[in-house]
Amino acid sequence: NTYKIILINPQAEKYLGVKKDQVIGVKTFEDKIKQLPNFKKIINKIPPNPLKLKTIKENVLIKTPKKKYLQVVTSPVYDDRKTFLGFVKVLHDITKEKEIDQMKSEFVSIASHQLRSPLSSLKWLIEILLKKRIGDLTEEQSKLLGQMDISNERMIKIVQDLLNVSRIEEGKASLELKKTDLNKIIQETISILNPQAEQKGIEISFEEIDLPEINLDPEKIKIAIQNLIDNAIKYSKEKRPIEIKEQIKDNQLLVSIRDNGIGVPSEDQDRIFTKFYRSEDAKSLVVHGTGLGLYITKKIIDAHKGKIWFKSSDQGTAFYIKLPTNLK
Ligand code: ADP
Repeated sequence: NTYKIILINPQAEKYLGVKKDQVIGVKTFEDKIKQLPNFKKIINKIPPNPLKLKTIKENVLIKTPKKKYLQVVTSPVYDDRKTFLGFVKVLHDITKEKEIDQMKSEFVSIASHQLRSPLSSLKWLIEILLKKRIGDLTEEQSKLLGQMDISNERMIKIVQDLLNVSRIEEGKASLELKKTDLNKIIQETISILNPQAEQKGIEISFEEIDLPEINLDPEKIKIAIQNLIDNAIKYSKEKRPIEIKEQIKDNQLLVSIRDNGIGVPSEDQDRIFTKFYRSEDAKSLVVHGTGLGLYITKKIIDAHKGKIWFKSSDQGTAFYIKLPTNLK
């Protein structure tokens, strides 16, 4: 509690390339610490107001003597009477996990890149056949080709999701902001997804407000909006409407997408934006699905410095997106 280092164990000495005599008795902000680069890296996250500290978990890259990723957990220590005694930092070497994670991401990235072009060729080939460019088809043949087309589109969507995730994880998903007509994007998305909605007897209404063009990455926002409306349709009950509304609140644009669907189980609500999450109800209602859409959507909205959240019950779900736009 005086920021003086009072203990370091042999394994930590090894991880950080320091000897106990160099650090014991030294205060964390002293110049001596600055000369120990690894040590300085793990020690700097001690907040000036310790009483407010909750446990902090961070990953730190150590470069010497060998490249190593450490997970550093910082926790306050109290005695029986809740008197604050100081901090403890626990280090875990997570280098292997990081390497495996990186290999997995590379594999996903390469596999999805490689799958993209044969799938696009299939798409065009099926289309040539379906349009009867090289001869007539029987009804049965058309039907089967139609089903092939749907399966192929599904694979294209999965591969696209995986590619988007790889780009995000490789940090290659920077935004290309330009003046964008958001209402047009929403209208276009609705018309793309309308056939899917009509199959379930669902009507999509859009109460738009007058909007000037705003600075957004149109391609990415389109992906986000499409994921949300697509989910609203997929997880909606039959013949129930979907409402999309816009509102300006505190100079920010708020878009809401409300369905009357199966809802998100309350015990799962904090996992909904994590990769691969799908609720049991969702899996039995819509067999196919990657659980990547909302993860990607949140990353896109976060990158725009916006916010996304939702409210859900067994009566339905409403997703909200807030975009900073400086609108009045
Ligand atoms: P996918 O739709 O491919 O399963 P998402 O990442 O888009 O993946 O969604 C993750 C999960 O969140 C879904 O499987 C479902 O359980 C839940 N979910 C998303 N949107 C809704 C919604 N509008 N209503 C109910 N559940 C939803």
